[in-house]
Amino acid sequence: MVIVLSPSATEVNINAVVSKVTGVGGQAFVSRGERRTIIGLVGDLDLFEDLNLLAFDGVQRVVRISTPFKLVSRDHHPEKSTVMVGTSRAPIGPRTFTLIAGPCAVETPEQTLAAAQMAKAAGASLLRGGAYKPRSSPYAFQGLGEAGLRILADVRAETGLPIVTEVVDVADVDVVASYADMLQVGTRNAQNFALLQAVGAAGKPVMLKRGMSSTIEEWLMAAEYIAQRGNLEIVLCERGIRTFEKATRNTLDISAVPVVHSLSHLPVVVDPSHSGGRRDLVVPLSRAAIAIGADGIIVDVHPDPATALCDGPQALMAEDLAELTSSIKALAPIAGRTLTAPPA
Ligand code: PEP
Ligand code: MN
Repeated sequence: MVIVLSPSATEVNINAVVSKVTGVGGQAFVSRGERRTIIGLVGDLDLFEDLNLLAFDGVQRVVRISTPFKLVSRDHHPEKSTVMVGTSRAPIGPRTFTLIAGPCAVETPEQTLAAAQMAKAAGASLLRGGAYKPRSSPYAFQGLGEAGLRILADVRAETGLPIVTEVVDVADVDVVASYADMLQVGTRNAQNFALLQAVGAAGKPVMLKRGMSSTIEEWLMAAEYIAQRGNLEIVLCERGIRTFEKATRNTLDISAVPVVHSLSHLPVVVDPSHSGGRRDLVVPLSRAAIAIGADGIIVDVHPDPATALCDGPQALMAEDLAELTSSIKALAPIAGRTLTAPPA
């Protein structure tokens, strides 16, 4: 069961509901969104119904939810959510199309700034870049750690672009959250429940990638772990799943976009870089993402992919970005969206 509070509900109203629910042995999880607060109830639904919570001050609706994921479900929140990121408040939601771009990994200040400038010139309103990299090989470049976060913060100061960056370990959540505007949880950690709970409590929006072997329900249950810790500022990212097909790095499950939109109010973006794993596929997959109704895309760019320390073969160069931008500008209006402008 989910209690939807009115936008004017006060802390006193919230506490009154929570103490009533806990008083009958239930659990109440308060999740604060950009515009509304909702309370997820766990326990005996019949007991909760006897409490007549609808009569409480500040309570707008009481909704029984049929899906296993509740706070992220569309049942109690038919309108799609918009997540605002950074001080520029870049929106990711139903009316806009948001380009997130940047290097796979932060390597040097010069490389990161050059990639950010390429991204911004292409119309990106958010900068991606990993300082903590989840690499399949322990011998591969693991990222610069906090030094990489400092580079990202300098590049944000220079370009105005808010930062999306990955956190791979619970122990690093506080330091990453102290620099980042949005925390990314990668495919390999998509069911690291302790990490999901920690980012849920970190007070920053979260981009949750789909686990490479996660069903859509498992992905939404992973998002529920974040929401249940009080954070509804979640953006889901379809980045391809493991199949028998070897021609692409992963198989982009493009149908996941409308399926998730029908089940959840959360925004959904597509990562055409990590799904295809090939530069030549990024623009076609991006076109598919726009056409099917994605709320944005997150793409790898690099000033010199041949020297990239991570994922060079999929990184876009300046000329590819020009093609990407013209595709977005042509297709986003057809999909009923406007490209979110970069910060001034
Ligand atoms: C990334 O975006 O840098 C990344 C590692 O992606 P994924 O978790 O989707 O592989
Ligand atoms: Mn990568």
